[in-house]
Amino acid sequence: MTGQGGHRFLIGWRKWLLYLRVAAHVAIRGAANALRGRMPARKYPVFLYRALLFLLALRHSKAVGCGGRWKLHLYIPAYPSRAFWHTLGKLCRPEPGPVSVVLSMTRACSYRCPHCYQRRDEGRDLDMETLISAARSMQDLGVSLFDIEGGEPLARFDRLVGLLRSLDDRAETWINTTGVGLTEAQADELLGAGLFGAMVSLHAPDAAAHDAFTGVPGSFEAACRALRLFARRGAFTAINCCPDPAAVEGGGLERLLDLGRELDCAFVCRSSTARRPEAGWAGPPGSAAAGGASTGCARCTLTTTPPGGCCSTRRSRPRSSRSARTSSAAPPEGWTASTWAPAARSSPASS
Ligand code: SF4
Repeated sequence: MTGQGGHRFLIGWRKWLLYLRVAAHVAIRGAANALRGRMPARKYPVFLYRALLFLLALRHSKAVGCGGRWKLHLYIPAYPSRAFWHTLGKLCRPEPGPVSVVLSMTRACSYRCPHCYQRRDEGRDLDMETLISAARSMQDLGVSLFDIEGGEPLARFDRLVGLLRSLDDRAETWINTTGVGLTEAQADELLGAGLFGAMVSLHAPDAAAHDAFTGVPGSFEAACRALRLFARRGAFTAINCCPDPAAVEGGGLERLLDLGRELDCAFVCRSSTARRPEAGWAGPPGSAAAGGASTGCARCTLTTTPPGGCCSTRRSRPRSSRSARTSSAAPPEGWTASTWAPAARSSPASS
Protein backbone atom coordinates (compact mmCIF):
# COMPACT_ATOMS: atom_id res chain seq x y z
CA MET A 1 0.00 0.00 0.00
CA THR A 2 1.46 3.41 -0.95
CA GLY A 3 0.43 6.81 0.43
CA GLN A 4 0.17 10.01 -1.61
CA GLY A 5 3.59 11.27 -0.55
CA GLY A 6 5.34 7.97 -1.21
CA HIS A 7 5.13 6.21 2.15
CA ARG A 8 4.77 2.49 1.64
CA PHE A 9 3.20 0.33 4.31
CA LEU A 10 4.00 -3.37 4.54
CA ILE A 11 1.78 -5.89 6.25
CA GLY A 12 1.42 -9.68 6.19
CA TRP A 13 3.93 -11.79 4.28
CA ARG A 14 5.50 -8.72 2.64
CA LYS A 15 6.50 -7.43 6.07
CA TRP A 16 8.01 -10.81 6.96
CA LEU A 17 9.95 -10.83 3.68
CA LEU A 18 11.43 -7.47 4.66
CA TYR A 19 12.34 -8.85 8.10
CA LEU A 20 14.06 -11.83 6.47
CA ARG A 21 16.01 -9.48 4.23
CA VAL A 22 17.08 -7.36 7.20
CA ALA A 23 18.03 -10.45 9.25
CA ALA A 24 20.10 -11.88 6.38
CA HIS A 25 21.80 -8.53 5.81
CA VAL A 26 22.61 -8.20 9.52
CA ALA A 27 24.05 -11.74 9.66
CA ILE A 28 26.19 -11.27 6.53
CA ARG A 29 27.43 -7.85 7.54
CA GLY A 30 28.30 -9.10 11.02
CA ALA A 31 30.23 -12.05 9.53
CA ALA A 32 32.08 -9.69 7.19
CA ASN A 33 33.02 -7.45 10.12
CA ALA A 34 34.29 -10.49 12.05
CA LEU A 35 36.35 -11.67 9.06
CA ARG A 36 37.87 -8.21 8.55
CA GLY A 37 38.75 -7.93 12.21
CA ARG A 38 36.30 -5.11 12.92
CA MET A 39 34.59 -7.34 15.45
CA PRO A 40 36.30 -10.07 17.53
CA ALA A 41 35.27 -13.37 15.91
CA ARG A 42 34.33 -14.80 19.31
CA LYS A 43 31.75 -12.04 19.67
CA TYR A 44 29.95 -12.88 16.44
CA PRO A 45 27.59 -15.53 17.90
CA VAL A 46 26.67 -13.14 20.73
CA PHE A 47 26.08 -10.37 18.20
CA LEU A 48 23.86 -12.64 16.10
CA TYR A 49 21.85 -13.73 19.12
CA ARG A 50 21.35 -10.18 20.34
CA ALA A 51 20.49 -8.93 16.86
CA LEU A 52 17.87 -11.66 16.54
CA LEU A 53 16.31 -10.67 19.87
CA PHE A 54 16.42 -7.04 18.80
CA LEU A 55 14.67 -7.71 15.50
CA LEU A 56 12.13 -9.99 17.16
CA ALA A 57 11.27 -7.19 19.56
CA LEU A 58 10.35 -5.01 16.59
CA ARG A 59 8.10 -7.52 14.88
CA HIS A 60 4.82 -6.10 16.18
CA SER A 61 5.60 -2.61 14.89
CA LYS A 62 4.54 -1.53 11.46
CA ALA A 63 7.02 -1.38 8.59
CA VAL A 64 6.95 1.87 6.61
CA GLY A 65 9.13 2.62 3.63
CA CYS A 66 10.03 5.85 1.87
CA GLY A 67 12.84 6.66 -0.51
CA GLY A 68 14.36 3.16 -0.25
CA ARG A 69 14.58 3.26 3.55
CA TRP A 70 12.41 1.31 5.96
CA LYS A 71 11.31 2.25 9.42
CA LEU A 72 10.81 -0.86 11.52
CA HIS A 73 10.04 1.26 14.57
CA LEU A 74 9.60 5.00 15.00
CA TYR A 75 12.48 5.31 17.49
CA ILE A 76 14.93 3.01 15.67
CA PRO A 77 16.88 4.47 12.72
CA ALA A 78 15.64 3.40 9.30
CA TYR A 79 17.11 0.41 7.49
CA PRO A 80 19.43 0.60 5.61
CA SER A 81 21.35 3.59 6.92
CA ARG A 82 24.58 4.31 8.74
CA ALA A 83 22.50 5.19 11.80
CA PHE A 84 20.84 1.76 11.68
CA TRP A 85 24.21 -0.02 11.61
CA HIS A 86 25.47 2.31 14.32
CA THR A 87 22.54 1.10 16.46
CA LEU A 88 23.30 -2.56 15.83
CA GLY A 89 27.00 -2.00 16.53
CA LYS A 90 26.00 -1.30 20.13
CA LEU A 91 25.00 -4.94 20.52
CA CYS A 92 28.67 -5.86 20.82
CA ARG A 93 29.36 -3.40 23.61
CA PRO A 94 29.36 -4.46 27.27
CA GLU A 95 27.22 -1.39 27.99
CA PRO A 96 25.21 -0.53 24.88
CA GLY A 97 23.70 2.72 26.25
CA PRO A 98 20.63 4.48 24.88
CA VAL A 99 19.56 4.33 21.24
CA SER A 100 17.39 7.45 21.15
CA VAL A 101 17.03 10.70 23.04
CA VAL A 102 14.47 13.48 23.11
CA LEU A 103 16.50 16.67 23.11
CA SER A 104 14.85 19.91 24.18
CA MET A 105 16.74 22.74 22.47
CA THR A 106 14.69 25.74 23.59
CA ARG A 107 11.85 26.59 25.91
CA ALA A 108 10.46 29.17 23.48
CA CYS A 109 6.87 28.50 22.40
CA SER A 110 3.81 30.62 21.75
CA TYR A 111 1.27 27.83 22.38
CA ARG A 112 -0.56 27.16 25.62
CA CYS A 113 -1.22 23.42 25.67
CA PRO A 114 -2.62 22.25 29.02
CA HIS A 115 -0.38 19.16 29.15
CA CYS A 116 2.85 21.11 28.58
CA TYR A 117 5.71 20.39 30.96
CA GLN A 118 8.08 22.79 29.22
CA ARG A 119 6.54 25.84 30.84
CA ARG A 120 7.66 24.45 34.19
CA ASP A 121 11.25 24.68 33.03
CA GLU A 122 12.44 28.06 34.17
CA GLY A 123 16.06 27.67 33.14
CA ARG A 124 17.58 29.59 30.26
CA ASP A 125 18.29 27.90 26.94
CA LEU A 126 21.79 26.47 26.75
CA ASP A 127 24.26 28.50 24.74
CA MET A 128 24.80 27.05 21.28
CA GLU A 129 28.30 25.79 21.96
CA THR A 130 27.20 23.78 25.00
CA LEU A 131 24.13 22.46 23.22
CA ILE A 132 26.18 21.19 20.27
CA SER A 133 28.86 19.77 22.52
CA ALA A 134 26.23 17.86 24.55
CA ALA A 135 24.55 16.51 21.39
CA ARG A 136 27.87 15.36 19.93
CA SER A 137 28.83 13.70 23.20
CA MET A 138 25.55 11.79 23.15
CA GLN A 139 26.23 10.73 19.58
CA ASP A 140 29.71 9.52 20.56
CA LEU A 141 28.13 7.52 23.39
CA GLY A 142 26.05 5.69 20.80
CA VAL A 143 22.81 7.64 20.56
CA SER A 144 21.61 7.07 17.01
CA LEU A 145 18.23 8.83 16.95
CA PHE A 146 17.60 12.39 18.10
CA ASP A 147 14.07 13.71 18.49
CA ILE A 148 14.67 17.47 18.74
CA GLU A 149 11.90 19.35 20.47
CA GLY A 150 11.32 22.46 22.52
CA GLY A 151 9.31 24.38 23.34
CA GLU A 152 8.95 24.89 19.66
CA PRO A 153 12.19 24.19 17.75
CA LEU A 154 11.05 26.26 14.75
CA ALA A 155 10.90 29.30 17.05
CA ARG A 156 14.73 29.22 17.10
CA PHE A 157 15.21 28.26 13.50
CA ASP A 158 18.92 29.17 13.14
CA ARG A 159 19.70 27.29 16.33
CA LEU A 160 17.80 24.26 15.01
CA VAL A 161 19.67 24.29 11.70
CA GLY A 162 22.98 24.64 13.52
CA LEU A 163 22.19 21.70 15.76
CA LEU A 164 21.17 19.52 12.80
CA ARG A 165 24.36 20.38 10.94
CA SER A 166 26.47 19.52 13.98
CA LEU A 167 25.32 15.88 13.98
CA ASP A 168 26.65 13.39 11.47
CA ASP A 169 24.88 10.50 9.77
CA ARG A 170 25.56 8.08 12.63
CA ALA A 171 22.27 9.51 13.95
CA GLU A 172 18.81 9.95 12.47
CA THR A 173 17.25 13.29 13.38
CA TRP A 174 13.59 14.18 13.81
CA ILE A 175 11.91 17.33 15.03
CA ASN A 176 8.91 17.42 17.28
CA THR A 177 7.03 20.55 16.23
CA THR A 178 3.69 22.30 16.02
CA GLY A 179 4.56 23.29 12.45
CA VAL A 180 3.75 26.92 13.23
CA GLY A 181 4.99 29.31 10.55
CA LEU A 182 6.91 26.66 8.60
CA THR A 183 7.66 27.81 5.05
CA GLU A 184 8.66 25.76 2.03
CA ALA A 185 12.14 27.29 2.11
CA GLN A 186 12.53 26.36 5.77
CA ALA A 187 11.42 22.78 5.12
CA ASP A 188 14.03 22.55 2.35
CA GLU A 189 16.73 24.01 4.58
CA LEU A 190 15.97 21.62 7.42
CA LEU A 191 16.08 18.59 5.14
CA GLY A 192 19.27 19.93 3.56
CA ALA A 193 20.78 20.18 7.06
CA GLY A 194 20.14 16.47 7.60
CA LEU A 195 16.64 16.33 9.07
CA PHE A 196 15.15 12.89 8.52
CA GLY A 197 11.57 13.25 9.71
CA ALA A 198 9.01 15.43 11.44
CA MET A 199 6.61 14.61 14.23
CA VAL A 200 3.88 17.23 14.24
CA SER A 201 1.52 17.73 17.17
CA LEU A 202 -2.15 17.23 16.32
CA HIS A 203 -4.26 16.55 19.37
CA ALA A 204 -7.69 16.40 17.74
CA PRO A 205 -9.02 15.52 14.29
CA ASP A 206 -10.82 18.84 13.80
CA ALA A 207 -9.66 22.45 13.84
CA ALA A 208 -11.97 23.69 16.60
CA ALA A 209 -10.88 21.08 19.14
CA HIS A 210 -7.15 21.26 18.31
CA ASP A 211 -7.11 25.07 18.33
CA ALA A 212 -8.94 25.07 21.66
CA PHE A 213 -6.33 22.66 23.05
CA THR A 214 -3.32 24.73 21.94
CA GLY A 215 -5.01 28.06 22.66
CA VAL A 216 -3.94 29.30 19.22
CA PRO A 217 -6.44 29.80 16.36
CA GLY A 218 -5.07 28.39 13.12
CA SER A 219 -2.80 25.86 14.83
CA PHE A 220 -4.66 22.93 13.22
CA GLU A 221 -4.08 24.34 9.74
CA ALA A 222 -0.42 25.06 10.57
CA ALA A 223 0.10 21.44 11.66
CA CYS A 224 -1.61 19.97 8.56
CA ARG A 225 0.36 22.26 6.29
CA ALA A 226 3.67 21.29 7.89
CA LEU A 227 2.87 17.59 7.53
CA ARG A 228 2.05 18.08 3.84
CA LEU A 229 5.22 20.13 3.22
CA PHE A 230 7.47 17.46 4.70
CA ALA A 231 5.63 14.49 3.14
CA ARG A 232 5.80 16.07 -0.33
CA ARG A 233 9.56 16.33 0.06
CA GLY A 234 9.94 12.64 0.80
CA ALA A 235 10.50 13.00 4.55
CA PHE A 236 9.00 10.61 7.05
CA THR A 237 6.19 12.25 8.99
CA ALA A 238 4.25 11.40 12.12
CA ILE A 239 1.32 12.82 14.02
CA ASN A 240 2.02 13.22 17.69
CA CYS A 241 -1.19 13.39 19.68
CA CYS A 242 -2.23 13.61 23.28
CA PRO A 243 -5.98 13.40 22.81
CA ASP A 244 -8.66 14.13 25.35
CA PRO A 245 -9.80 10.75 26.78
CA ALA A 246 -13.43 11.68 26.07
CA ALA A 247 -12.52 12.28 22.43
CA VAL A 248 -10.77 8.89 22.28
CA GLU A 249 -13.86 7.12 23.52
CA GLY A 250 -15.98 9.14 21.08
CA GLY A 251 -14.04 7.88 18.04
CA GLY A 252 -11.59 10.78 17.91
CA LEU A 253 -8.57 8.50 17.68
CA GLU A 254 -10.00 6.70 14.63
CA ARG A 255 -10.65 10.07 12.98
CA LEU A 256 -7.08 11.10 13.75
CA LEU A 257 -5.89 7.90 12.09
CA ASP A 258 -8.01 8.78 9.04
CA LEU A 259 -6.47 12.25 9.02
CA GLY A 260 -3.01 10.70 9.27
CA ARG A 261 -3.83 8.58 6.22
CA GLU A 262 -5.11 11.61 4.34
CA LEU A 263 -1.92 13.55 5.18
CA ASP A 264 0.24 10.54 4.26
CA CYS A 265 1.81 10.22 7.69
CA ALA A 266 4.02 7.24 8.40
CA PHE A 267 2.99 7.05 12.06
CA VAL A 268 0.35 8.32 14.45
CA CYS A 269 1.75 8.32 17.98
CA ARG A 270 -0.52 8.67 20.93
CA SER A 271 1.19 10.08 24.00
CA SER A 272 -0.19 9.33 27.41
CA THR A 273 -3.10 11.46 28.51
CA ALA A 274 -2.04 10.83 32.05
CA ARG A 275 -1.86 13.46 34.69
CA ARG A 276 1.77 13.88 35.67
CA PRO A 277 3.06 16.33 38.19
CA GLU A 278 5.59 17.84 35.81
CA ALA A 279 2.87 18.78 33.30
CA GLY A 280 1.55 22.30 33.35
CA TRP A 281 -1.99 21.23 34.10
CA ALA A 282 -1.08 19.61 37.39
CA GLY A 283 0.07 22.69 39.27
CA PRO A 284 3.29 23.02 41.27
CA PRO A 285 4.82 19.83 42.70
CA GLY A 286 3.33 19.02 46.08
CA SER A 287 0.21 21.10 45.49
CA ALA A 288 -3.28 19.64 45.81
CA ALA A 289 -3.64 19.83 42.02
CA ALA A 290 -0.49 17.78 41.65
CA GLY A 291 -1.82 15.10 43.95
CA GLY A 292 -0.28 16.20 47.24
CA ALA A 293 3.15 15.35 48.55
CA SER A 294 5.44 13.42 46.21
CA THR A 295 5.40 10.10 48.04
CA GLY A 296 4.12 7.84 45.27
CA CYS A 297 5.73 5.65 42.67
CA ALA A 298 8.92 7.01 41.13
CA ARG A 299 8.43 4.87 38.03
CA CYS A 300 5.10 6.28 36.86
CA THR A 301 5.43 9.53 38.83
CA LEU A 302 1.95 9.28 40.30
CA THR A 303 2.11 11.28 43.48
CA THR A 304 -0.67 9.32 45.14
CA THR A 305 -1.40 5.66 44.64
CA PRO A 306 -4.92 5.26 43.22
CA PRO A 307 -7.27 2.52 44.49
CA GLY A 308 -6.48 0.40 41.42
CA GLY A 309 -2.75 0.60 42.21
CA CYS A 310 -0.04 2.24 40.14
CA CYS A 311 2.24 0.73 37.50
CA SER A 312 4.28 -1.32 39.99
CA THR A 313 1.36 -2.88 41.81
CA ARG A 314 -0.66 -3.53 38.67
CA ARG A 315 2.21 -5.31 36.94
CA SER A 316 1.48 -8.64 38.61
CA ARG A 317 -2.25 -8.58 37.91
CA PRO A 318 -4.20 -10.09 35.02
CA ARG A 319 -4.46 -7.82 31.99
CA SER A 320 -8.15 -7.14 32.51
CA SER A 321 -7.53 -5.51 35.88
CA ARG A 322 -4.85 -3.20 34.45
CA SER A 323 -7.43 -1.17 32.59
CA ALA A 324 -9.05 0.07 35.78
CA ARG A 325 -9.10 3.82 35.58
CA THR A 326 -10.04 4.73 39.09
CA SER A 327 -8.11 7.46 40.85
CA SER A 328 -8.09 9.31 44.08
CA ALA A 329 -7.03 12.39 42.16
CA ALA A 330 -9.55 14.76 40.60
CA PRO A 331 -9.50 15.16 36.81
CA PRO A 332 -8.10 18.42 35.45
CA GLU A 333 -10.42 21.17 34.37
CA GLY A 334 -12.47 20.27 31.30
CA TRP A 335 -11.98 16.50 31.67
CA THR A 336 -14.68 14.11 32.79
CA ALA A 337 -14.29 11.87 35.81
CA SER A 338 -15.47 8.84 33.80
CA THR A 339 -12.64 9.14 31.29
CA TRP A 340 -9.86 10.33 33.55
CA ALA A 341 -6.89 7.92 33.28
CA PRO A 342 -4.01 8.50 35.70
CA ALA A 343 -1.76 5.56 34.81
CA ALA A 344 1.24 6.79 32.87
CA ARG A 345 3.37 4.84 30.41
CA SER A 346 4.96 7.71 28.56
CA SER A 347 5.39 11.37 29.16
CA PRO A 348 2.98 13.93 27.74
CA ALA A 349 4.26 15.45 24.57
CA SER A 350 6.02 18.72 24.42
CA SER A 351 5.25 20.51 21.13
S1 SF4 B 1 3.33 21.19 24.58
FE1 SF4 B 1 4.77 21.95 23.04
S2 SF4 B 1 3.51 23.23 21.69
FE2 SF4 B 1 2.32 22.95 23.55
S3 SF4 B 1 2.82 24.74 24.82
FE3 SF4 B 1 4.25 23.09 25.41
S4 SF4 B 1 6.07 23.40 24.15
FE4 SF4 B 1 4.39 24.58 23.24
